[in-house]
Amino acid sequence: MKPLKLMSYAEGRWLEPAGALNDIVSASTDELVAQVGQGIRDFAGMLHYARSAGGPALRAMTFHQRAAMLKALAQAIMARKEELYELSYETGATRSDSWIDIEGGAGTLFTYASKGRRELPDDVVLIDGAVEPLSKGGTFVGQHVLTSLQGCAVHINAFNFPVWGMLEKLGPTLLAGVPAIVKPATASAYVAEAAFRIMIDAGVLPDGALQLIVGPTGDLLDHLTGQDVVSFTGSAKTAQTLQRHPVIARESVRFIAERDSLNAAVLGPDATPEQPEFELFVKEVVREMTAKAGQKCTAIRRALVPAALIDAAQAALQERLAKVVVGDPRNEKTRMGALVSTAQRSDVRAQIEKLKREARIVCGDPNRNNGHGAFLEPILLRCDSPAGATAVHEVEAFGPVATLMPYDGIDDAVRLVNRGQGSLVMSLFTYDPHVARTILTGAGAFHGRLLIVDRDCARESTGHGSPLPMLVHGGPGRAGGGEELGGLRGVMHYMQRTALQGSPRMLGTVTHSWIRGGPEERDAPHPFRLKFGEVQPGKTFVSPLRKITLEDIEHFAHFTGDTFYAHMDEDAAAANPFFEGRVAHGYLLLAFAAGLFVDPAPGPVLANYGLDNLRFLKPVNPGDSMRVQLTAKSKIPRKDEYGEVRWAVTLTNQDDEIVATYELLTMNAI
Ligand code: NAP
Repeated sequence: MKPLKLMSYAEGRWLEPAGALNDIVSASTDELVAQVGQGIRDFAGMLHYARSAGGPALRAMTFHQRAAMLKALAQAIMARKEELYELSYETGATRSDSWIDIEGGAGTLFTYASKGRRELPDDVVLIDGAVEPLSKGGTFVGQHVLTSLQGCAVHINAFNFPVWGMLEKLGPTLLAGVPAIVKPATASAYVAEAAFRIMIDAGVLPDGALQLIVGPTGDLLDHLTGQDVVSFTGSAKTAQTLQRHPVIARESVRFIAERDSLNAAVLGPDATPEQPEFELFVKEVVREMTAKAGQKCTAIRRALVPAALIDAAQAALQERLAKVVVGDPRNEKTRMGALVSTAQRSDVRAQIEKLKREARIVCGDPNRNNGHGAFLEPILLRCDSPAGATAVHEVEAFGPVATLMPYDGIDDAVRLVNRGQGSLVMSLFTYDPHVARTILTGAGAFHGRLLIVDRDCARESTGHGSPLPMLVHGGPGRAGGGEELGGLRGVMHYMQRTALQGSPRMLGTVTHSWIRGGPEERDAPHPFRLKFGEVQPGKTFVSPLRKITLEDIEHFAHFTGDTFYAHMDEDAAAANPFFEGRVAHGYLLLAFAAGLFVDPAPGPVLANYGLDNLRFLKPVNPGDSMRVQLTAKSKIPRKDEYGEVRWAVTLTNQDDEIVATYELLTMNAI
């Protein structure tokens, strides 16, 4: 194949590499695959373009419009995924390795598209949490809100997942309304460049939303400001170099670091070889060692087992590892392909040498496979005295390498696991919740994710090594102290939280919502006569009073079967610290409320979708009366035909005391 000349994409143009070109060869055949050079001359110009063109265009789009854009990008990747699979073989990845990268990457975009649509408003301001009352009279309140940063996100990615690594950062960034400059790792930049090209070709991105640097980043970081974000994935060494950049400190540039970590898997003391968790542990350790040839930041590097089980665990691991077929990633029988390059293999071999000072190899030979390609067989080491060792807890061999070690009691397991100084993930194989609780309380603070595998969840478990878009990815300390993904949490890294203070009218109006104390519009028509587009926050309906009799309560009790003593037995109810005697059912109040506020004839309200935040605040006794107030609070379009309206509902008694509050959701025709 003719080598690809990898291009950068800046200020809306593809740029040929200039200057001396460096070769990237195939990980499995050593053939020349691609060449990189210095593509970009004007890094400050790229940042300016992102801030002046991309940022304003993205910020003019609502969350829903950005979500639709992400969906279109994901669809474009999926439509041309075979081009990416083909290139990805050259990185040494098998088809299943590439599936994680390519379809996992597109899947992450799809998830963010759907979260944007379902969990965010069709707006550019994001309300964060509840209104905080700040005054006795209710005229002064607080509300946290988030708005998009006005700078640029600089994404510096590792080589191991050229597509997923790019898309897992782009999903939250673009949804937040922030443009990005992507700098993929050189070793696999040909896959990243191809995926990037697919996104540009899709034609759905505004100008300046996305730019690409293939090759060095020049003086890019010198031009950053406090509105920019650097999100880095790679080694601890590079992260430290970048974090020390004077502009990053001076301008308080947000810096998200996802670094390497010495992730552990722990076999619980209860998980003897007869228990299913033993086999699950062995399978997972081997899977983590061999998937992507162990080049995963989340891979299991340390396998901890009870001292009494170490020989059994070693034998089981050896047996499974012996069956791993290493070779041509295109061959369907191959279980593990090559490392990304022979340089990477040399690096891994050097790290194995360091580990060998404290551990011995019990499976595999790091020096076999010296023909073409960057193949390396899985290497299992065993360290019998991990408490006195250092390297096994510190040295990351970024390849198919793990160290087996014994622990002596669960507290010792916690101590050893935490010697990793902070990890992305640990997994625990136990059926005993007490073991799991001890590990959580002892090691939780050192881990971004904790996977507990047992016989009940194993079949459906997504596994130790897979970050998921809905869960946070990142870990403390050694792992970088960063956090990505985690659903909407990941979006907020690219937005500024502002504590807004003012009157309910002002804050409600600027956040496109209604806040208690704000203006109410009580005139006809009834709110249920209004289509989605016609309902405005503040539109209110107030019912007349309705009396609640003992007959109502008894009728409801026998009709529903809810004859709980508090509704039926005067003495028993009075003995309850909450009541003075028999009280109306909460659900009876809700049912009466619906009877009071509905406008029954067919109309734009299509369905009751549920209610949120229901609280019963004061008992209602026989003879009391109630009224309901319904006020439109906010709305979110759902489909072309309908949207969701959120109503603030308040039930009050004859003395105007609040007896219950909740938020009602209706689906209204557009
Ligand atoms: P790396 O050598 O640290 O490189 C990471 C990225 O930084 C690459 O894009 C690299 O570009 C760039 N870079 C290096 N020096 C730079 C500089 N002075 N200025 C700007 N950019 C610079 O890491 P890697 O070898 O690609 O990846 C493997 C490591 O990443 C492993 O340690 C692994 O554990 C870690 N990792 C962590 C995560 C996570 O989520 N926590 C995920 C994947 C990998 P060039 O390639 O052009 O040098």
